[in-house]
Amino acid sequence: MAKYVYGIDLGTTYSCIAYVDESGRANVIKNLEGTNTTPSVVNFASPNQVVVGQVAKENAVIDPRNTVSLVKTLMGKSNFAISYNGEDKSPEEVSAYILRKLAEDAAKEIDAEVKDVVITCPAYFGTAERTATKNAGIIAGLNVLEIISEPVAAAIYYGCTKESEEKTILVYDLGGGTFDVTIMSINSEKIEIICSDGDHDLGGKDWDSAAMRYLADEFASQKSYNGDLDEYAQQDLRLKAEKAKQQLSAKEKTPVIVEAAGERARIDFSREKFDEITSALLKSTIDKTDSAIAVAEQRGFKVDEILLVGGSTRMPQVTNVLEEKYGIKPKILEPDEAVAKGAAIHAVNVYINNQPNVIPDPSIPDPDNSVESLPIDPMMMSIGGKKRAIVVATTKSFAIEVIVDKKTREPKCCNMIIKNDPMPDGSITVSKTFGTVDTGQGEVEITVYESDFMDEYFDVDEDYAIGTATLELPENLPADSPIEITFSLNSEGILEVTGKDLTSNKEIHATMQSKYIMNSETVEELKEKSKQMAVM
Ligand code: ADP
Ligand code: MG
Repeated sequence: MAKYVYGIDLGTTYSCIAYVDESGRANVIKNLEGTNTTPSVVNFASPNQVVVGQVAKENAVIDPRNTVSLVKTLMGKSNFAISYNGEDKSPEEVSAYILRKLAEDAAKEIDAEVKDVVITCPAYFGTAERTATKNAGIIAGLNVLEIISEPVAAAIYYGCTKESEEKTILVYDLGGGTFDVTIMSINSEKIEIICSDGDHDLGGKDWDSAAMRYLADEFASQKSYNGDLDEYAQQDLRLKAEKAKQQLSAKEKTPVIVEAAGERARIDFSREKFDEITSALLKSTIDKTDSAIAVAEQRGFKVDEILLVGGSTRMPQVTNVLEEKYGIKPKILEPDEAVAKGAAIHAVNVYINNQPNVIPDPSIPDPDNSVESLPIDPMMMSIGGKKRAIVVATTKSFAIEVIVDKKTREPKCCNMIIKNDPMPDGSITVSKTFGTVDTGQGEVEITVYESDFMDEYFDVDEDYAIGTATLELPENLPADSPIEITFSLNSEGILEVTGKDLTSNKEIHATMQSKYIMNSETVEELKEKSKQMAVM
């Protein structure tokens, strides 16, 4: 069996797996249903069997209580996705079944082992979400080589990393449930994320809902029906609306048969109508794109190229509006596969760079190296065997609670690290000095907040608090004594906080981690336990 490594796009609505073949080309591997992408829907069918993909998506009608959709939106934010058979299932475990479906189907399809993978996640994912994604991979029994950002993977696939000249790229990713816009500076050696923005609750599903409303209204007026559609008719209409939307990407018009309340109506749906009823949705993606461009321009970057990612960018309205607005013709190449393929190319890069001999030569046995060689000559690929640096930007802002006005004593959050701050060596350290408030103050309470706010000060909101540390102070310290606070964020998103009383030089250190990070024992337990479940 040949040894391959894989790229997995674990999407909000659809997932995809790809590998690089002997000729150096990235290919998507079909699932056993024969499609390139698999709906990220998990149905707990029985205590020892889960169904993943299109069948689960359709089952959602009959069995909504045992079906999980959009589990990605819970990653790192909750430890609960669904309760089944008297047991609470975490988002990591549910995602692991999606990964297993992709991996097990792929292994059968190309007759190879699926073990070493790069999994992608949105650029805005912070530590907790990235760790949850990695843990899902471990629970699925995979060896996760790396977690990389989706727009980075897409840019790799689009071949942006082949060029030696530096370019500024905008990735517009409109998927099924989310919209993300990322601006990066790229050349053959390095990919640097300048900024990312988006709407985590805007995607193809909203276009489907708009189409559904239109179809339901047309049905009501054709059949003079004023009742509501029952749950089954709604779900059926949702599937039909999505299909019609996809057809309208290729055709100007499509007929839709709506069945409800014992009646059938044929509705002629046109692209023009569809574009009209969804124009406000499209506009909100452009507003986000504008603000990302503004951030990049402030830092001296001007967008040279636009890449389209996500199945929803197949809608012609997307290309049209972007070209009209920015005067750049966006590039579009298999937008719903680009992320998985880019991740597969990156997986080869990571895999060979982790081996002692950069370009594996199967004819020379290496006693120290038990790692299997790939049947690929990296020189045949865009990556050319060279290690590529990915420079990330912070994906969250980190603040400390302070009292700005001693009279009102109203606490405020003061951002130390601001979202999109560059992390040139993969880390960032910021120090600021504050003064104590009261004479003889016994201690300083350091409360840390993680948020998306980008202003220097914002109002305290407990929802964003991630931890506290207490720095004891020497006696009789006058008010306004200097206290130095240092935030240090590493590439894994772990924040080290140091508080130092500059009078006595006494320090306190604390590590802040999100509350939803699963511990490694639980991950291992789930890995063993979920093996009992067959994935269909
Ligand atoms: P994810 O959001 O999970 O990353 P994708 O990038 O695959 O997933 O995007 C899925 C969305 O793309 C769905 O809303 C789907 O209906 C939509 N989509 C797929 N193909 C087309 C098409 N031809 N025209 C319009 N929308 C499409
Ligand atoms: Mg996606």
